[in-house]
Amino acid sequence: MKPALIDTHVHIDDCQFDPDREKVIQRATDASVTGMVIPAVCAAHWPRIQRIANAYPHLFPTIGLHPLYTAEHSKEHLLLMEAELARHCYAAIGECGLDTFLPDHNIELQREYFVAQLQLARQFKLPVIIHARKTVEQIILLLRAHGPEKGVVHSYNGSLQQAHRLIDLGYSLGFGGPVTYPRARKLRALVTSLPMENMILETDAPFQPIHDQSSARNEPANIQSVLTTFSQLRKAPATDIAMASNQNAIRLFELADDRLIANPGQ
Ligand SMILES: [Zn+2]
Repeated sequence: MKPALIDTHVHIDDCQFDPDREKVIQRATDASVTGMVIPAVCAAHWPRIQRIANAYPHLFPTIGLHPLYTAEHSKEHLLLMEAELARHCYAAIGECGLDTFLPDHNIELQREYFVAQLQLARQFKLPVIIHARKTVEQIILLLRAHGPEKGVVHSYNGSLQQAHRLIDLGYSLGFGGPVTYPRARKLRALVTSLPMENMILETDAPFQPIHDQSSARNEPANIQSVLTTFSQLRKAPATDIAMASNQNAIRLFELADDRLIANPGQ
């Protein structure tokens, strides 16, 4: 049996899962995925995430405004987020952050939404799930000024030195599909040298496919391939790595143990 694992970042609400979401969640359970944290990307999807999470106790919803969808966000969404945070239980605020990959990005506006969400996280004492593409340095500075006590930089792709600065701030680093590619030397060096107690495993499904997967769409069951890669790179038993990642996730998101699946795949 595969080690029990929490997928700390899976967009199970994404439309790519509309035709067969139930089966995808079942395949994840069969692959010993005991819990999933669902990052939110835009206000239009918040009710959908609530609906899906309500149907499965081991799915943990978050609420957030993703930097890639800044054109869809409005200031009213921030007010709505504050009202939602007062009404419902969320594992985190996110996915929020900065992304300067696309040529038409509006970094000033992205920064406004990001800082506002950091402030809400402080207000509600919640961790943040951070998206940082080509922006790790700016993120570190903003976290120093406005960040809550804890959070995760998901799909981390900064330097080793920046990773240690984030760890010093109390943040974790998330790793997923990209580490399964043998050519990802820099990422693999990070996974090998960072302390396991500061890392968590994720898929980012349906995005960021793993190496050699059979379909273009990633899914949460594939987190076991991320675990296998970690185990090979760190020359450590998969069960130890799974346990460390799960403990970090439970601590970071304050996940209720009794809502996780106790005996996956049985
Ligand atoms: Zn994501």
